[in-house]
Amino acid sequence: MDPLATIPADAETVRRLDRAHVFHSWSAQALIDPLPIASAQGSYFTDYHGRRYLDFAAQLVNVNLGHQHPKLVAAIQEYATRMTTIQPAFANDARSEAARLICEVAPGDLNRVFFTNGGAEANENAIRLAKLHTGRHKVFAAYRSYHGATAGSLTLTGDPRRWGVEPGIAGVVRYWGPYLYRSAFHATTAEQECERALRHLRDLLMVEGAHTVAAMVLETVVGTNGVLVPPHGYLQGVRELCDEFGIVMVADEVMAGFGRCGEWFAVDRWDVTPDLITFAKGVNSGYIPLGGVLINDAINETFQRRVYPGGLTYSGHPLACASAVASINIFYDEGVIEHARWLGTDVIGPGLAELADRHPSVGEVRGMGVFWAVELVRDRDTREPLVPYNATGADAQPMNEFATACKQRGLWPMTHFNRTHVVPPCTASEQEIREGLAILDDALDVADRYY
Ligand code: PLP
Repeated sequence: MDPLATIPADAETVRRLDRAHVFHSWSAQALIDPLPIASAQGSYFTDYHGRRYLDFAAQLVNVNLGHQHPKLVAAIQEYATRMTTIQPAFANDARSEAARLICEVAPGDLNRVFFTNGGAEANENAIRLAKLHTGRHKVFAAYRSYHGATAGSLTLTGDPRRWGVEPGIAGVVRYWGPYLYRSAFHATTAEQECERALRHLRDLLMVEGAHTVAAMVLETVVGTNGVLVPPHGYLQGVRELCDEFGIVMVADEVMAGFGRCGEWFAVDRWDVTPDLITFAKGVNSGYIPLGGVLINDAINETFQRRVYPGGLTYSGHPLACASAVASINIFYDEGVIEHARWLGTDVIGPGLAELADRHPSVGEVRGMGVFWAVELVRDRDTREPLVPYNATGADAQPMNEFATACKQRGLWPMTHFNRTHVVPPCTASEQEIREGLAILDDALDVADRYY
C-alpha cells in the first residue's frame, strides 16, 4: 500500500479531520474554520475549489524562495534518499556545510551555529548563552516585539501575545525601541527619535544596574509589530552601549534575515555586528523546520572547556540542514538578495507611496526589501489607528472588511491590528507585485470609508 494513501483528497474530509483532531495555534478552537489548501506554486497557493491567492504574506513571512521551488524540492528529495536523520552528537555532511554557508554570509566573527527547529528555540538559547557567558541574569527586550512562543521567548515578546502567560521568566526588563510615527519619546525627527531612544536605554541601564544585564535583545527590523526600520545610528548606538557595559547584543533576524530586507542579514544595512544573531524562517523558506543561533568567537570561547547545558533531538537535523544548503546556494545562483533589494527600491516602495497619495486612510508606509507595512488610520492629523491596538471582535471590523476585500480579489494579505504588511516571497516577479498592489489599491477603498 502507498503509505500516504490515507491522506484525504477532498476539502470536506480535510476540514472535518482538522476540526476533530487538530489543536490550532493562537486560537479559540471552536471559533476558527481554517481554509484547506490544496497546492502552492511560486508566489501563489490554491484552495480545493481552485481559488488561487497571491501570497502577500509568504505564509508567516518565511517562504522567501516561493512555494515549491523546483531546485529546493529536488535537493530535499535527493538528500532524503541518502540520509534522513542522525542525532546531533554525530557530525553530518549537510550540517557541516549548512553551518559553513551560514557563517559565510554572516557578518564579522559570527563563526559558529547552534541549530534549533525554529525561531523561539533560537532566542531561548541565545539568552541562555548570554547569561552563562556574562554570569548575569537580566535581559532587555523591547515593547512592540515578537520573539516566539516558548517560555523565555514569549516573555521577551513585547506585544499582547505574552499577556496570557505572564509573569513568564524572571529578569526581563522592557524598553521602548524607535518608532517615529508613534514616538514614545515625543520626537518629530528621525535624529531625535534615535538620540532619545538611546538615552532611554542608557537611563534604564543606570537604574537596573548595567552590571546585572546579560543581553540586549532586539529585532533588527521589527516584524509583526509593524516593520519598524530603525533610524540610522540606532543599531550603532546599541552596539556601543553593549560594548561599554559588557552586554551581549542579540539581533533577532528570524523574520528580517535571509533576503527579507534585501540583505543576507538586516544588520548588513547598517554595518553592525551583533554578538549573537538568531535566524529561522528564510534560511530554508520553511520547507523543513530549522532555526539557529549564530555565535561569535568570544562567546564560543566560553564554552571550549565548559559544557553548554542545552540541546535538542533535532538540532542540526540533516534533512533540514540539506535544505538550508540548497536554499543558500539558490540565493547565490539566482541573485535573490539583489532581486529583493530591487523590488523594495524600485517596485514596492514607489508603488506603496502612490497608494498613500490616493488613499487618505494610509497614514504611513515604511519598509525595505520585501518587508513593508502600510499603517491605516481614521485621521492623518491625529494618527488615530483604523482599529485600536489589540482590536478583537467588533472593534476589528474595518480591518476584517479590508482583509476580506483582498481575499475576494485573490490576494492573501498579512494584517495586524491597523496594518497590512506587504511581505511576498523574495522571488516574486515585478508583475506579481504590481498585481498585488492593484488589489490593495481596490481594497483600500474599504478602509477609506472609515476615514
Ligand atoms: N522572532 C521573530 C522576529 C519572529 O517573527 C518569529 C516568528 O514569527 C519568531 C522569533 C519565532 O519563530 P518560530 O515561530 O519559528 O518559533
